[in-house]
Amino acid sequence: MPSADQNDLLFDRARAVIPGGVNSPVRAFKAVGGTPRFIRRAEGAYFWDADDRRYIDYIGSWGPMILGHGHPAVVEAVQKAVLEGFSYGAPTEREIELAEAILALVPSMEMVRLVSSGTEAAMSALRLARGATGRKHIIKFEGCYHGHADALLVKAGSGLATFGHPTSAGVPPEVTQHTLVLEYNNIAQLEEAFALHGNDIAGLMIEAIAGNMNFVRATPEFARRCRELCTQHGALLIFDEVMTGFRVGLHGAQGVLGIRPDLTVLGKVIGGGMPLAAFGGPRAIMEQLAPLGPVYQAGTLSGNPVATACGLATLKEIAKPGFYEALAAKTRALVDGLKAAAAAEGQPFSADSEGGMFGFFLMDELPQNYATVMTTDGAKFNTLFHGLLARGVYIAPALYEAGFVSAAHSDADIAATIEAARQVFQAA
Ligand SMILES: *Cc1c(COP(=O)(O)O)cnc(C)c1O
Repeated sequence: MPSADQNDLLFDRARAVIPGGVNSPVRAFKAVGGTPRFIRRAEGAYFWDADDRRYIDYIGSWGPMILGHGHPAVVEAVQKAVLEGFSYGAPTEREIELAEAILALVPSMEMVRLVSSGTEAAMSALRLARGATGRKHIIKFEGCYHGHADALLVKAGSGLATFGHPTSAGVPPEVTQHTLVLEYNNIAQLEEAFALHGNDIAGLMIEAIAGNMNFVRATPEFARRCRELCTQHGALLIFDEVMTGFRVGLHGAQGVLGIRPDLTVLGKVIGGGMPLAAFGGPRAIMEQLAPLGPVYQAGTLSGNPVATACGLATLKEIAKPGFYEALAAKTRALVDGLKAAAAAEGQPFSADSEGGMFGFFLMDELPQNYATVMTTDGAKFNTLFHGLLARGVYIAPALYEAGFVSAAHSDADIAATIEAARQVFQAA
């Protein structure tokens, strides 16, 4: 008699006590169907589910695990920190070390504050931008995700450059009425928004390489125009680099694009898998924060000693010479191999990568905005997802998510992934 699938059993148990059985919605496999895999352990480029099936991991906890799972230097740092105490609610030297390490690598930041999640960092950066400028309006772009703060859970209203509508129940329209939602890479619309509202805009928040609508780059012209218009109108340019920071390169998307934002939001990699995020910028703006200034912001676990140990050890590894060159080459090899496999089987396919982050689309050309991303054939993506999963390759269970390669992925892992994809393309 075949034994019951442990993932099914755990999913049933989970659904009885946790809404949808998960603590973050995309984990539920709702978009692709099927039972989510409950992970029991991870090592290097792999994790194992409740049935002890091994997967090559291309989500890496949605970005943080850039060194792979269980890097010895990181494990050692965390073990040492745990023995010294979990949390004090008083300052530590390690917070200074991490702040110094971040500032040394992100020259646009002169000061930084540590928090516990990307959501919290983005929300705090927004409050700071409003507090520092004394203005209300903010600009965000359709398809960019900045965490789940109320004012950022918003989609475009009708017509060009109008204020947005909430995308979640529980967010009153009054809370999003100051959020302008624009189309990504649409320069004309951006210019119109600034022409209409420029003097009331506190900040423009953007993923300069967007990873929450799969993988879409801001064009250099678009990114430059964002910078120019913010400067011209006294609005703050806020790069949300929670995903791209220390992921697309040692200096983030701002390093790739050669653009200096006013505020930067970080998360994911800087915690190395622990709850840790940050936001920062010029001294004069950051000193508007409590306890120095009038913008309130706080956190019981902010700068947590175990999380900072994990983040510091991770940053130390990725700052080593050649790290990103090797990671980028590996990621490019994956993307090129997938493209070739799709081409060989006559499947429409396009793909892109930067550093250890990649995206692919089941269409001939790379999309420039969210509306085009959403024209992807969902059923076809689901076939690919489940085909790969059955072959031991775990990619994001939704077509609007980016993928992540770690330093632990071997050439053999990449080759096995490409071969799995070729088989799925061939069967399609
Ligand atoms: C993941 C992410 C966030 C939210 O971070 P959490 O730690 O999940 O709250 C914000 N912005 C971007 C760009 C992200 O990718």
